[in-house]
Amino acid sequence: MTAESNLGLASRARPLDSWVAGIPPWTPVLLFCLPLQPSMRFLSLFTFCTLASLCSPSFSSGGDSGLVSSPVALERGLIQLDADRIRADLYFLASDEMRGRDTPSPEQRIAARFIAARLERLGWQPGAEDGYLHEYELPIQGLDGLACQVLVESGDERLRFEFARDYACHPSSISTYQVRGEELIYAGGFGKDEIEGLDFKNRWVIAESSGVGFGRLRRIARKGGALGVLVVPGSELSPAAMADRVESWGTRALEGKLNRGRSRRAYPLLYLTADAARKLYDFAGVSDPVAGDVLAVSLQETRASKDDARVGLENVCGLWPGSDPVLRNEVLIISAHYDHVGASDEGEIYNGADDNGSGTCGLLALAEGLVEYGPMRRTVMLIWVSGEEKGLLGSAAWTSDPWFPEGMQPVADINIDMIGRNASDYLLITPTAERAEYNGLVRRAEALAPLEGFPKLGNCDAYWSRSDHANFSRNLHIPVTFLFSDVHEDYHKPSDTPDKIDYDKIRRVARLVLRMLDSLQADELNL
Ligand SMILES: [Zn+2]
Repeated sequence: MTAESNLGLASRARPLDSWVAGIPPWTPVLLFCLPLQPSMRFLSLFTFCTLASLCSPSFSSGGDSGLVSSPVALERGLIQLDADRIRADLYFLASDEMRGRDTPSPEQRIAARFIAARLERLGWQPGAEDGYLHEYELPIQGLDGLACQVLVESGDERLRFEFARDYACHPSSISTYQVRGEELIYAGGFGKDEIEGLDFKNRWVIAESSGVGFGRLRRIARKGGALGVLVVPGSELSPAAMADRVESWGTRALEGKLNRGRSRRAYPLLYLTADAARKLYDFAGVSDPVAGDVLAVSLQETRASKDDARVGLENVCGLWPGSDPVLRNEVLIISAHYDHVGASDEGEIYNGADDNGSGTCGLLALAEGLVEYGPMRRTVMLIWVSGEEKGLLGSAAWTSDPWFPEGMQPVADINIDMIGRNASDYLLITPTAERAEYNGLVRRAEALAPLEGFPKLGNCDAYWSRSDHANFSRNLHIPVTFLFSDVHEDYHKPSDTPDKIDYDKIRRVARLVLRMLDSLQADELNL
């Protein structure tokens, strides 16, 4: 529909638009059923349909003629973006219960389903081949629970400890090796006086957890020629705390972590439950060992990692099909990563409210805005990717094998990552005119940003390779741009929490993106 000049339509249609927006969808039926003459019924229905059509999106048709192509629909979409709703979403996604949305983690899968459910509820179409979730796989490294064991021997007698039940190692210590020693030496709480003069060479060392850092423990034991260290409950880890650690670290080591191609043989540092330690002492005939006691039994640890293990990961994709029979095949992509870095081994949660709960929720708000806007001429695809924090893995997987409905192809990507902190009028963009990739998306953002309270966009060319737009550019060869409100003192810390977020800023960045999309509906994109 191209007949009207946009400004003319805007000035006349806005009051009508809000009027029609308040009419329930069953009104035409009601009008038709009114006790009127048949000719009057048709007149009422005709009047309703005319009013409604006046208020649906209308676009300019000639070239790249202006920034705003459907002001009525745009206004309708813009007012849908609401800071309180963005806050509600972000308090959920960045809650402690979501444990930092690590890649991979059960909480990340919950986040993906939350986003997919919202898309479905809003009436968005699935944007992946089998629904809203685009699935990909990555290699992981984890321990083989059946192959791992600790075997203690004395003559013909044997005592066997099971991984993740009797003992465990740090979840990152994924290795394959076998270490055997013929003696163990007890080193108490590893205090200076306790270890003074002890001979660790070719022995296993038993140490009570006592607040001596495990890094230091390992360093001293290694330097003294010890084969490895068995840490048993002590003043720092009670029997109950040790049992928890053995179970949780053991489980995580079995589940595995993404294989980043760095495998160094781990130094044997084992955590033993109180129960297992007691069995070991009984087996060796030592009732209450003191520092310097030698247990004359052999101990062999076998550690084995699983080969070819893979983990399934997910990106979330929603499609808002275009209305133009030709231009609908051109897909405008808006992306944001929904993963963060998880929790530390000590249990500190990295909530990732700004990084990138802000962009994730900005995209959810945009999905709502587009519903009110109605179809654009071109198709819009929203993609929430995982694995960004582990090296842009989700966007790499998607862009190396992108899926679109038959006939559609990508034409641009706008990526948002960390848009909820720092001064309220401070927003950065890349590629700026200083880079060869500078394009029409950036020019539009620069022109439209002042309308949303960002008088001048700053330069983040230094971040050109640091978020997912890099993969859309590199692998799909399309113009991209990246909106970002910079790092801050809570960047990649447990203190990146939802209470510190500027929700109105997220709203205004999402509004800017909606304005950019609206400005990308002319016949020629000219990016
Ligand atoms: Zn990050």
